[in-house]
Amino acid sequence: MIYTDTRDSSVKVNFETAVMNGMNSKTGGLYIPTSFPKLSESFINKNPEPSFRDIAFNMAKPYVEGEIPDEDLMQIIQDAYPFTPKVVPLDNNSYILELFHGPTCAFKDFGARFMARVMSYFNRNGKDALHILVATSGDTGSAVGSAFHNVPGLDVTILYPEGKISKIQEKQLSTFTGNVRALKVKGTFDDCQRLVKTAFTDDELRSKFRLSSANSINISRLLPQSFYYMYSSLVVKNRAPLDTKLEAPSIITIVPSGNFGNLTSGLIAREMGAPIKGFVAATNTNRTIPDWIATGEYNARPSVETYANAMDVGAPSNYERIKAMYTYEQVKELFASYWLDNDGIKDAIQACNEKTGYIIDPHGAIGYKAWVDIKNGEMSSLASGIYHDFKKPGLTPNLPSWKDEVINHNAVGIILETAHPAKFGGIVQDAIGRESPIPERLQEVMNLPDRAIPMENSYESFKDWLINNL
Ligand SMILES: *Cc1c(COP(=O)(O)O)cnc(C)c1O
Repeated sequence: MIYTDTRDSSVKVNFETAVMNGMNSKTGGLYIPTSFPKLSESFINKNPEPSFRDIAFNMAKPYVEGEIPDEDLMQIIQDAYPFTPKVVPLDNNSYILELFHGPTCAFKDFGARFMARVMSYFNRNGKDALHILVATSGDTGSAVGSAFHNVPGLDVTILYPEGKISKIQEKQLSTFTGNVRALKVKGTFDDCQRLVKTAFTDDELRSKFRLSSANSINISRLLPQSFYYMYSSLVVKNRAPLDTKLEAPSIITIVPSGNFGNLTSGLIAREMGAPIKGFVAATNTNRTIPDWIATGEYNARPSVETYANAMDVGAPSNYERIKAMYTYEQVKELFASYWLDNDGIKDAIQACNEKTGYIIDPHGAIGYKAWVDIKNGEMSSLASGIYHDFKKPGLTPNLPSWKDEVINHNAVGIILETAHPAKFGGIVQDAIGRESPIPERLQEVMNLPDRAIPMENSYESFKDWLINNL
C-alpha cells in the first residue's frame, strides 16, 4: 500500500515509513492510504459472520502488503487481540458495541496494541531500543503504556500533569514496571506536550537515542479501529432481521467523538464494504464538528472540560483526514451530528439506566441519547422544517441521506461504548445513585504501588533525566 499526505498528494511512502514517522514533519500533514480496498462480497455476506480476528487479518492485509508477511501479520493480530469487542442488544432497534474489554477498559486498546506490535516488528533488527515519549491527559497514556509493556525492543516514557487526572487514571499510568514508566510533571497537559515536542526537535538528544511518538494521529492506531466497525456491522446485519422483524434494516453507527480518530476509522470500514448506512458524530460542549456541519465553517477553539473528558478536544486533528476523504457535501449526506452539555450527559446516563437497565459511561451516554432522540422524532421534526438552534444541545440541523430510513423506522443503531463506566465512577454514581461494578483488571491496578517519578516543569530537568536514565 502507498500512503500519501493530507497536505501534499505528491508524497508517497510505505507503511513502515508512515508508522515510524507518525506524521510528515516536512508538511505537518497526516498520512492516509491512497486506496481502501473492499473486502469480497462473499466474505461480507457470510452468515454467521467471520470471527473478529479473521476480519482483522483480512482488513489489515492490504495495508501492510509486501512489508509484513501473512504469518507475521496473523501473529501480530493474535498477540494484540486476546479479547474481542461485544455486541449487546439494548432495545428493539439499538445495540451497544462494547469496546472496553481490553486491559485498560477503553477502545484505545484496539489501536495502541496493534501499533505497539507493528513498531516492534519494524524495529526487530534494530540494535538499540526505540524510545517512545507520550504526553497524556488520561486514557491515551494507559492504553499506550499497557500496549507496549514487555514488547521487545521498545521503551516508553509517559508524561502526565500531576494532580490533573483521576485517581483511577493515575493508577493505570503509574504502576508499570520494566520498559514503561511515568513522569508526573508539575504543570498542565500542555506543559507535558511541550516537553515531549521539544525533545523531538533536540538534535543532541536525537543523536543519543532513537525517539518516536505514539500519538493518536499515527495511521497504525487508526486502521485497526476499523476492524470493530466491520465486525459489529456484520453481526448486526445477520441478527437484526431476527431481533427486529425488519428484513434488511439500515445500520447507523453512533460514535462518541473527540479527536475524531475513531469516527475516521468507521469511514475506512465503510469504504472497505462494511454495511453501514450512516454515522452520528456525538460530542460534548466541544462542538467544533457539529458547528462545522451546521454552518460549513470550521473554527477550531480551545477545549473546555466536561464529564466526557476523553472528548475534550477543541481542534480535532482528524478533521484533516475527513476533509481529505470527502467533500463537505458528502459529509453532510453521511453524518448526523449531536452534542450534549454536562447536565445532558448526566440525564442521559440516568435515562439509559432507567429505560434499559444498562450502565453506560459519560461518553457512550451522549451516543445513547443522540440515537434515542434521532429515532424518536427529532429527525422527522427536522425533516418537516422545525428549526433547531445549533448553539443549543441536541441534533444539529442537517438532514443526512439516510434520514428517511430512520423516519420510516427501517434503521437500527449501533452505539459505541468507548469506555467502561467504572472508569468514571463519580459521575455515574451521581446519575444513577449507585456505583458501576469495577472489573477485576481495574481493581488489580488500584492495589498496585504507585511508581510515578516526580518531574519539574522544565525542559533542562526533563532532558537531564532522560540522559541519565534511558
Ligand atoms: C479517546 C476517547 C474518545 C474519543 O475518541 P476520538 O478518536 O478522539 O474521537 C471517546 N471516548 C473515550 C472513552 C476515549 O478514551
